[in-house]
Amino acid sequence: MFLTPRLSSASRQTAQRLQNAAVLLSRAASTGQEPLSVSDPEISEIITKEKFRQTHGLELIASENFASRGVQEALGSCLTNKYSEGYPGARYYGGNVFIDQIERLCQQRALEAFRLDPAQWGVNVQPYSGSPANFAVFTALLKPHERLMGLDLPDGGHLTHGFMTDTKRVSATSVYFESMPYRLDPKTGYIDYVKLRETAILFRPRLIIAGTTAYSRLLDYQAYRDVCDEVKAVMLADMSHISGLVAANVIPSPFDYADVVSSTTHKTLRGPRSGIIFYRKGVKGVDKKTGKEIMYDFEKKINNAIFPGLQGGPHEHQIAAVAVALKEALRPEYKEYQQQVLKNAKALSDALIKRGYKVVSGGTDNHLVLVDLKPQGTDGARVERVLELGYITVNKNTCAGDKSAMIPGGLRLGTPALTTRGFKEADFETVVELLDKGVKIAQNVMKQTKTLKEFKAYLVESNDAHSQLDALKAEVQAFSKDFSMPGLEDR
Ligand SMILES: *Cc1c(COP(=O)(O)O)cnc(C)c1O
Repeated sequence: MFLTPRLSSASRQTAQRLQNAAVLLSRAASTGQEPLSVSDPEISEIITKEKFRQTHGLELIASENFASRGVQEALGSCLTNKYSEGYPGARYYGGNVFIDQIERLCQQRALEAFRLDPAQWGVNVQPYSGSPANFAVFTALLKPHERLMGLDLPDGGHLTHGFMTDTKRVSATSVYFESMPYRLDPKTGYIDYVKLRETAILFRPRLIIAGTTAYSRLLDYQAYRDVCDEVKAVMLADMSHISGLVAANVIPSPFDYADVVSSTTHKTLRGPRSGIIFYRKGVKGVDKKTGKEIMYDFEKKINNAIFPGLQGGPHEHQIAAVAVALKEALRPEYKEYQQQVLKNAKALSDALIKRGYKVVSGGTDNHLVLVDLKPQGTDGARVERVLELGYITVNKNTCAGDKSAMIPGGLRLGTPALTTRGFKEADFETVVELLDKGVKIAQNVMKQTKTLKEFKAYLVESNDAHSQLDALKAEVQAFSKDFSMPGLEDR
């Protein structure tokens, strides 16, 4: 008697609440207020799975990192709504008061983070990523089909440095400009600067790139500078991989030597995916005959190449996120982080050597290690696949003497991402233990299969392979899941 009216009043209230919620939801849908999990559960669920992959796996890709919550917030902000073609103070659209403040702050912090004098260096923070940044530098400083030199891709250079094969000009750099590679000394695994000079004297490039994407040693910037002076070439340092280490001042800076410096912002630097170009400005020298000052002329050329040459509206949400990352780079903890990145790379390299692995060049001076798996009788493609199924992410890489880029002999391993999660030297010894288990699985499966295709199919179909992979995966997940993960505190 007492319960019935209460229940019915409760259910009436529930019905009313449900109805209100439905009204709110439909209003939310039409005004864009729905959370992603409601408006697009399909994408939302995939993102959740990717979060799980990132937090429960071991991320060893040398070019990756985990951006902070602040970086991710700026990236996901309303700044994505704004058009701002042009540069601060000179835009082609109205409403850019705050956008101008953001871009100027980003420029200022970029110069500060790399300890540059604004009278001597300028910066463009608008490149959408590293590849467009490089193409803009080439477009700005070279006429079509003028010559440039960069480290060959199989030897550790980047695609954009002009990669081509016997039959194909693979990179647009080699389509629109004439590229000549320089290489490593195959015996030492170090860049062959003697050959680089000889080739430059013959080829007479207008620009030489000092930059790498899979090279574990420091660059001899003085050697590049000397060759550039000798053949009157512009020296471009592409510090994409190492810019975080440079910002923290834990490895030598290219700014003491280069004319122009390009970089991504999402690798060791730990910002959002974006690109950046620094160029010298002000007085270059004095003309011996006339006594007149000669000025650098990069600023206008590079700014014009980015906009209106190659790009339209800058991605100001990215630029704001770069500014956030650059502020982080000015903190003392950032220097400690980058020092740990180096220590961890040494620990990784030492532990691999201790287990009998061949590390290219015998070690590392930076954030990455190249392992040649040919002595183990296996290769980068097979081991990459096994490790992926075991929740360890690496990438296959060519080593000196490799014929195929699809089935290269080596792996590239980097420490920036896991160091962000708090990994120390001892943790990297555990990482090597797990990597070694993956290599052993690959070796076992190779005994049962011939081609790479058969190998991959066996991993999926064979119960024996499954149980080995499951054991590895369980061990990896148990180990990795308790380390911190920036920006994903809600996981
Ligand atoms: C990663 C990288 C790039 C290209 O950067 P994206 O953002 O992937 O376009 C250019 N140069 C070097 C040396 C790199 O390592």
